[in-house]
Amino acid sequence: MNEKLSFVNPTANSPWGTYLSQVDRVVPYLGPLARWVETLKRPKRALIVDVPIEMDNGTIAHFEGYRVQHNMSRGPGKGGVRFHPDVTLEEVMALSAWMTIKTAAVNLPYGGAKGGIRVDPKKLSLQELEKVTRRYTSEIGIIIGPHTDIPAPDVNTNAQIMAWMMDTYSMNVGGTATGVVTGKPLHLGGSLGRVKATGRGVFVTGREAARRLGMDLRGARIAVQGFGNVGSVAAELFVEAGAKIVAVQDHTGTIVNTNGLDLTKLVPISRTDGVVGFKAGGDIVPNEDFWDVACDILIPAALEGQVTAERAKKTTAKLVLEGANGPTVPEADDILAERGVLVVPDVICNAGGVTVSYFEWVQDFSSFFWDEDEINVRLDRIMMNALNQIWDTADKHKIPLRTATYAVACERILMARQERGLYP
Ligand code: NAD
Repeated sequence: MNEKLSFVNPTANSPWGTYLSQVDRVVPYLGPLARWVETLKRPKRALIVDVPIEMDNGTIAHFEGYRVQHNMSRGPGKGGVRFHPDVTLEEVMALSAWMTIKTAAVNLPYGGAKGGIRVDPKKLSLQELEKVTRRYTSEIGIIIGPHTDIPAPDVNTNAQIMAWMMDTYSMNVGGTATGVVTGKPLHLGGSLGRVKATGRGVFVTGREAARRLGMDLRGARIAVQGFGNVGSVAAELFVEAGAKIVAVQDHTGTIVNTNGLDLTKLVPISRTDGVVGFKAGGDIVPNEDFWDVACDILIPAALEGQVTAERAKKTTAKLVLEGANGPTVPEADDILAERGVLVVPDVICNAGGVTVSYFEWVQDFSSFFWDEDEINVRLDRIMMNALNQIWDTADKHKIPLRTATYAVACERILMARQERGLYP
């Protein structure tokens, strides 16, 4: 019996709806394993928690938090924690599912999970932020752990928040458990290279895609949406390779400079004032104009659902590198394919972060830490091996890279499911 989930009715372009349609597209390539595909269409476990804290002004505020474990057939759950006022259970379900696909696509021994709190951290004091983080960690403490589910940073969360999460979990279990989260500060069991890993992975996969397209990175024009951890690091690496960043958009607005924005100035200013703080370095334009800026490469590195059908019709990019999770809705995917635009999908393009998170977790368990060169060499090798295998699958079946990535990943997940068998 294929009953639909009772608690969610996704629309086509919602994150969970997007994910479900991505899974449907892979079914023809799964052979006999297709009988297990329903397991991917529902999360294994979803926890909703109340996060009450006393605010600095003495009032009591309640925030809603989530932790979803989508699939753990191949190993412990793995996935970030997002602090954002618009986070919903449905969104976290989709993000957790994309983690299942991503960890399998790069063949890490993990399943997929994700967490979030409906909160705008920019409106909290540092003390309130710490309280929210600690109470949330304590509430989800019943399902996370170094061997069960390992959170990490995502939108609006960082190494400090991971340190508080690690400390809270450790206090509750009565011993320092560094391996419970990744993306920690270096002196608390963090890994060299983790902060830049996702942006680096976007660059490594993008460089290979450009090579295969015959696109020279020197002089290539790039538009980047989202200028946080992922977008800004990827942009810097592309500039090092000779490309120029012609447009950047973040939550404060959009800045354009067809001669290339000076990142040495834009990056530090954006950290405090957002990209519009760099008025001197380019033109501030209405947000929708971002999608019209002439470019060769588009890097959506903000939130889901940003590349809509309308925007897919207008972009001049020949290559889309999905730094964000779920930035392209299925209809836009089809339009980009029809227009001959190559999309390197999120589930491989931004897998650099979880790969170095895996290195961090391994280093924590062995209490032996690697140097940054070793991390980057291993990261590049894992990303390139995964990408080449996915490309071979795409060529073999003449399918887009996204469907090929799902085919490779879903085969691994469903094979593990089949080999483990159903309990009881
Ligand atoms: P971040 O918080 O460091 O940066 C987010 C950026 O998006 C900021 O520049 C913010 O201003 C911008 N933004 C927010 N809302 C926006 C809007 N409505 N329009 C335009 N820009 C907006 O987050 P991050 O870690 O860089 O994550 C960005 C994306 O990458 C997310 O989809 C996340 O899930 C994904 N991702 C992150 C990692 C990681 O290691 N950090 C790994 C894999 C995927």
